Amino acid sequence: MKKSVWTDSIEIPQFDSLNGDRKTDVLIIGGGLCGLLCAYFLQRAEIDYILVEGDRIAKGITKNTTAKITFLHGLIYSKLINSVGREQAQMYLSANKAALQEYEKMCGSIDCDFERKSAYTYSMKDRQKIENEVRALHRLGINAEFTDDLKLPFKTAGAVRVDNQAQFNPLKFIAEISKELHIYEKTFIRDITPHTAIADNGKITADKIIVTTHFPFINKHGNYYLKLYQHRSYAAAFENAQEMEGMYVDEYNKGMSFRSYKNLLFIGGGGHRTGKKGGNWNEIYDFAKRYYPDSTEKYSWAAQDCMSLDKIPYIGLYSKRTPDLYVASGFNKWGITSSMAAAMILTDMVRGKKSEFAEVFSPQRSILKPQLAVNGFEAVMNLLTPTPKRCPHLGCALKWNRAEHTWDCPCHGSRFEESGKLIDNPSTGNAKIRK
Ligand SMILES: Cc1cc2nc3c(=O)[nH]c(=O)nc-3n(C[C@H](O)[C@H](O)[C@H](O)COP(=O)(O)OP(=O)(O)OC[C@H]3O[C@@H](n4cnc5c(N)ncnc54)[C@H](O)[C@@H]3O)c2cc1C
Repeated sequence: MKKSVWTDSIEIPQFDSLNGDRKTDVLIIGGGLCGLLCAYFLQRAEIDYILVEGDRIAKGITKNTTAKITFLHGLIYSKLINSVGREQAQMYLSANKAALQEYEKMCGSIDCDFERKSAYTYSMKDRQKIENEVRALHRLGINAEFTDDLKLPFKTAGAVRVDNQAQFNPLKFIAEISKELHIYEKTFIRDITPHTAIADNGKITADKIIVTTHFPFINKHGNYYLKLYQHRSYAAAFENAQEMEGMYVDEYNKGMSFRSYKNLLFIGGGGHRTGKKGGNWNEIYDFAKRYYPDSTEKYSWAAQDCMSLDKIPYIGLYSKRTPDLYVASGFNKWGITSSMAAAMILTDMVRGKKSEFAEVFSPQRSILKPQLAVNGFEAVMNLLTPTPKRCPHLGCALKWNRAEHTWDCPCHGSRFEESGKLIDNPSTGNAKIRK
C-alpha cells in the first residue's frame, strides 16, 4: 500500500470528539499544520480557543508534505516584484523569513530531525530566469547565488541557491506541539452561521472563527471556488540512491524535486491539475530506474495543494462581509513556511493587533488574473460534461484517476474513493457513483 514516509512509526496524540455545545473566544476549524500552529500561538498568548478537526489531526495534506522549510519558493520573487511591486515582494519575503526563524527557535527544543540545508531552484533550460531570480533576491537583501555546480544526476541550465534554509519531520514536530492543545477530533463542521459552527453532535459559539481546512469549505462568501484550484503531486522515497546535500525544486511546476531524509532520497514529480492527466508515479519510477538503477522504493505517496490565482496565499479576513471570520489557504505547495506565517498573522488579527505582514496576503485583493480564466474554463467545461458521476461540491463531472483509483474533480480538486467516499475537500459529502 502506498503511504507517506512520515506516517510510519510516529504516534500523534489523539483527542475526544465534541459532544454537546461549547463557547470560546476563538474557534479554529481544521487541524493540519496551519490550524495547529494557530492553536499553539493562541495557547502561548493565553487566549481561550478550541480547535476542531473532522478526522484526526495531521491526517490531511500535511502528512504527505516533503517538509522543506524555506522562503525560496520557486522563482517567486522576480514574479512578485513585477506583479505587486518591490514593497509587497519584500513583505512576502519577510513573512516567510520570520516563519523560518520561528521554526528554528521552536525546533531547538523539539526532536523533529530539523536540519539546516541549502535550498535550490533549478531550471532545465532557462538560465535567464534563474539569473533574474538571483537579482530579485539581491534587491530584497538576500544573499542568493547563481550556481551550475549542482549535485543532481542530470544537466541543468543553473540554479539559484540560498543557504541556511531547513528541512524536518513534520509529524514529529506536530506530535510534540499538539500535546497540550484544546482539540476535538472527529468533529466535522457542516456549516457556520456568523458566530457558530455546527457539527453532528454539538455546536461551538465563538467571537472569532479561523478556517484552516486546506480548501475553505464555505462557498457563500469569499469566492474561493473561483480563486483556487488544486495541483496534485507524487512522491517516493528510495533506499540506495544518492544522498542530496541540499533541497532542490524545478522552477517548472511539472518538474521534479529532491531532498534526503536519513538514508532515503525523496523524489517528487509527475504533477498535474487534480482531475487532469499527468506523469504520476510512473515518471518518478522511470527517473529512478534511469539514474539510480540500484535503488529500492521504500515509500510512495501523493497529495495536492491549493493554488491561488497569483502565487500568493490567501491569509486574512474570509470576505469583506464576514468581519469575524478568517482564512488561510492557497499555499501553492509552500505551506510549511506559509502555515507558520499564517498563524502569526491570524493570531495577531484575532487579537485586534495589526500584522506587519498582512497586506500582501489579503484575500480581498483583485481576482483579475489570467488563472481566473483558466479556472472559469475548467468549471464551464466540466459543468457541461454529461455524466452521472458528479462532484457534490458544485456539480462538476468527476474524472477517473487511473494511478490512484479515485474519482477526482478537475474544477476544485475534491476526490473520492471508487465507491464515492470523500477523500479530499472542498466537497463536504460523498459522491453518488452508480456503475
Ligand atoms: C506533494 C507535496 C509536497 C509538499 N512539499 C512542501 C514542502 O517541501 N515545503 C512546503 O513549504 N510546502 C510543501 N507542500 C505544501 C504543504 O505541505 C501544505 O501547504 C500544508 O501541509 C497544508 O497544510 P494545511 O494545514 O493548510 O492543510 P491540511 O494539512 O490538509 O489540514 C486541513 C485539515 O482540515 C480538516 N478539515 C477539512 N474540512 C473540515 C471541516 N469541515 N471540519 C473540520 N475539519 C476539517 C482536514 O481533515 C485536515 O486535517 C507540499 C504539498 C504537496 C502536495
